[in-house]
Amino acid sequence: MAYFDLPDAPGVTELAWPTRVVLGPGALARLPAELERLAIRRPLVVTDAGVVRSGIVARVHAVLTRADVAFARFEDVQPNPTDRDADAGLAAYRAGGCDGLVAVGGGSSIDAAKLVQLLVTHPPPLSRYDDAAGGDRLVTANLPPLVAIPTTAGTGSEVGRSGVAILPDTGRKTVIFSPHLLPRAAICDPELTLGLPPHLTAATGMDAFTHGFEAYVAAGFHPLADAVGLDAVRRAARSLPRAVRTPGDLAARTDMMIAAMEGAMAFQKGLGAAHALAHALTPITGLHHGLANAIVLPAVAELVRPAAQGRLAAVAVAMGEPPGRGEDALAAAAVERIRALVREVGLPARLRDAGVREEDLPRVAAKAFEDASHRTSPRPCAEADLLALARAAW
Ligand SMILES: [Zn+2]
Repeated sequence: MAYFDLPDAPGVTELAWPTRVVLGPGALARLPAELERLAIRRPLVVTDAGVVRSGIVARVHAVLTRADVAFARFEDVQPNPTDRDADAGLAAYRAGGCDGLVAVGGGSSIDAAKLVQLLVTHPPPLSRYDDAAGGDRLVTANLPPLVAIPTTAGTGSEVGRSGVAILPDTGRKTVIFSPHLLPRAAICDPELTLGLPPHLTAATGMDAFTHGFEAYVAAGFHPLADAVGLDAVRRAARSLPRAVRTPGDLAARTDMMIAAMEGAMAFQKGLGAAHALAHALTPITGLHHGLANAIVLPAVAELVRPAAQGRLAAVAVAMGEPPGRGEDALAAAAVERIRALVREVGLPARLRDAGVREEDLPRVAAKAFEDASHRTSPRPCAEADLLALARAAW
């Protein structure tokens, strides 16, 4: 458990909580002030075609233009970034003479911006920095500054210290992790999520919920992450159904933006088997990351229940279950509540209903086993366990 027992000081840990967040409806107007604070004169605005179509990028451009900030653009990030996105973004950064980055979008755009940021000062290929192979040691603090502006309430990449990309060398969603990849500021403006359609609200919101859940039940010692992860569970459980039903509900959108931020702050503690499976399901089957998490999470919660009964009981109460019953009954209720939440936000309950083929499951389990996320599961997972989870979710 590398993050909790320091190599030269067993039992001693280090906790960091450094993200600067500018939060609230209208926070986007604070972008020029953040750029000035970071001495960014000419940012590369990194985004994708969907965010351009939504009109949000035009709003960002307008804020920059009004403040006389010149900027370059890279608007071609793919839904699940690969090394090609990082290379093309790097070319745009160099051609634009940029000195910093502004990422606008969901996890894909923010993660792609982190990879561009890394390649500005670090040699390729990106697979060198694979966290599962100890690549985090190669990432230094010498990086241009990045400001992240999320347009979904899900990945929380704006306060996360990892960038995820599908790389040809590894064939899976590869986590590139370093505290240095933490954006220097996150501008969390819930007004930017008002136009997100219900199915994307549901899938990205379940990603936020899963971050809070998996971090809270993860093995290891991190009381700050525990408190914040459980709060993400509470907020997502109460506000995600409302945000799906009533997309214009700004209070629900604000709650979800906080849940997303908290979920990602919490998962510096670690994740679990749901994310290991999701990181394999997306490249193999094309399933959306948040949807993949939502579908496998009830089975994962059931698997870890005996090993984390007290934690699951607290999850049940955070999700609205009346306290006062035995821990085992509450823990069982948590699994049912999670199943009901997935149903309530309109997502399919089974992988087969989301187009996943049964014959792909062994490959999914093998790739998931290579992923570092399951190593903090409160119940250790062998490849066979991950296959059993995938079959249960199928
Ligand atoms: Zn996730």
